[in-house]
Amino acid sequence: MTATIYELVDEIRNENEKPVHDLIFQYQVESRLPCDCRECLLDITALALNALKPRYVVSLVTRLHEGEEEVTQFNDEVRQAVEDACQIVKARPHHFDNRVSTTPLPTFETDDDEPEESRETE
Ligand SMILES: [Zn+2]
Repeated sequence: MTATIYELVDEIRNENEKPVHDLIFQYQVESRLPCDCRECLLDITALALNALKPRYVVSLVTRLHEGEEEVTQFNDEVRQAVEDACQIVKARPHHFDNRVSTTPLPTFETDDDEPEESRETE
């Protein structure tokens, strides 16, 4: 056995990752993200990558040629995925959930002294 997949796994990468990271970085620099806190950056990235069809390649193999039309279509897909992800995070940011979860949960106040209903007596 020359190598296990665990040793080789870094050689397989999703070609979508770099373009998505680059575009999200560009949006961050241009202040076009709904929020650029840690949680939201990660959420936007994960959502955008999940929306795209994966493009796994072996890193040693570089794509020889891509037509101009194909490149344009790919860039459009990446942009759409990032923009959709921004809308989702804008509507439901997780940083809000985290902030809420750090506050103590409300406790139920029970009134032990509540008088019992007077029982019917014969
Ligand atoms: Zn945020």
